[in-house]
Amino acid sequence: MSVVVVGAGLAGLTAASALVARGVEVTVLEARDRVGGRTYGLEVAPGLWADAGAAYLGHRHTELIALLAGLDLKTTPTAMDGDSRFELGGDVETRAGRFPPLSAVALGELFDALTDLCAKIRVDAPWLTPDAAALDGRTAADWAAEHLRHPDARRFFPLFLGEMMAADPAAVSVLHMAFYLSSGGGLRYLNAFAGGAQEDRIDGGAHQVCERLAAGLDVRLGEPVRAIHQDAGGVTVVSASGQVRADAVVVAVPPALAAAIDFRPGLAVPRARSATAPGCAVKVHLIYPRPVWREYGLSGWTVNATGPLLSTVDDSPPDGGAGVLTGFVTGAEAHRFAALPAAEQRERVLAQAARLFPELPAPERVHVTDWLGEEYSRGCYAALFGPGDWGVLGPGLTSPHGRVHWAGTETSTEFFGLMEGAIRSGHRAAKAIAETQEEQ
Ligand SMILES: Cc1cc2nc3c(=O)[nH]c(=O)nc-3n(C[C@H](O)[C@H](O)[C@H](O)COP(=O)(O)OP(=O)(O)OC[C@H]3O[C@@H](n4cnc5c(N)ncnc54)[C@H](O)[C@@H]3O)c2cc1C
Repeated sequence: MSVVVVGAGLAGLTAASALVARGVEVTVLEARDRVGGRTYGLEVAPGLWADAGAAYLGHRHTELIALLAGLDLKTTPTAMDGDSRFELGGDVETRAGRFPPLSAVALGELFDALTDLCAKIRVDAPWLTPDAAALDGRTAADWAAEHLRHPDARRFFPLFLGEMMAADPAAVSVLHMAFYLSSGGGLRYLNAFAGGAQEDRIDGGAHQVCERLAAGLDVRLGEPVRAIHQDAGGVTVVSASGQVRADAVVVAVPPALAAAIDFRPGLAVPRARSATAPGCAVKVHLIYPRPVWREYGLSGWTVNATGPLLSTVDDSPPDGGAGVLTGFVTGAEAHRFAALPAAEQRERVLAQAARLFPELPAPERVHVTDWLGEEYSRGCYAALFGPGDWGVLGPGLTSPHGRVHWAGTETSTEFFGLMEGAIRSGHRAAKAIAETQEEQ
């Protein structure tokens, strides 16, 4: 049996590896000149890497953890010792721990309301949630306007949603917000460092996972797939430099990019709609000679209502050979920031760093990774399902289209949007193809 896998991200390469292990002949076609997709390494000092794409994982990401063990990769805890800084509308404040200087009652009410909402969702099939149409028809911004009374809750909510899912509340349906938070393990798990989804990073960078997976596979780079045509005998996959014939295909690319492929016969259910928005995150790395903030008892963690960096976290390599503060620009702020010329982006980042950390020297370098501008990602962390999307896209999310199977983190109802979801989707697609092979 022969299979073409479209996309050499975690989902595509997991599917490819699993199929090769079952004796299937696999060709992977990748649009970029590198593998890894939304995992991407940034060399911050000779031999020292930071994650310009996905970074964090927690103990519930069991398939990722198993994959790391198989590839001989280790994890390192995300550093979070020391005081945090907050710029939430007034002066910069320093506090022990991560809790922001906002009303604890207001934030408690926000989390209770979100928890109640999440409890209603059918995570395995959100479109079958009781009252799905109503939840799918309204945005998270509508929900906030109706449910959040206290100004602190209103101020914190977009920052929280930006950090959790790189979403502008106006761009996602209530159903998608609640699904995403539940799929990722719930509010507390998703939001936590110790014991949660941000507990660890991959030592040396997450990009190594795909590089190591690809090493044993037939991966062809620089081959954006433009068309997938099926006939009675098989599938023809048309890419930049030619075409490949196979018995089946796994399409493992983000929904908007899958929707741009010319399928013949055409798809019964679309992969994306005009309401489907790109996740909006720009990652900014501030590079110092060493983690200098630690010398002042600071964790490097900040939360800010005044952008551009809405949060920062210490992502320094474990040996301390470089200091790396990762800044997240998310939600509506990401669109504004991405539109600025590079010199102005740098100027604003340096001004904010000086406000947040007046005791520190200026970073030696600032590196901006704009995922909104990436032609073959179209945003991150993951696609955002807008009003009406789940009702239309949900039922076809994983259903094969003839010989075409679907993978990618956006096709996983478990850990949707995360590396773990991508890996689970790759295993699912490979299993489905193996089952059709056994039936023949
Ligand atoms: C800044 C950022 C931060 C993140 N943080 C985290 C985190 O901390 N933890 C976490 O678990 N996840 C995080 N994520 C999400 C995580 O990166 C993704 O969920 C995961 O990597 C998606 O894998 P995938 O294989 O589904 O898709 P992708 O990685 O997008 O892979 C798809 C591949 O398909 C290729 N492609 C696209 N179109 C075509 C085409 N037409 N033909 C051929 N190839 C094509 C792309 O180039 C790409 O290589 C983050 C992502 C980003 C960008």
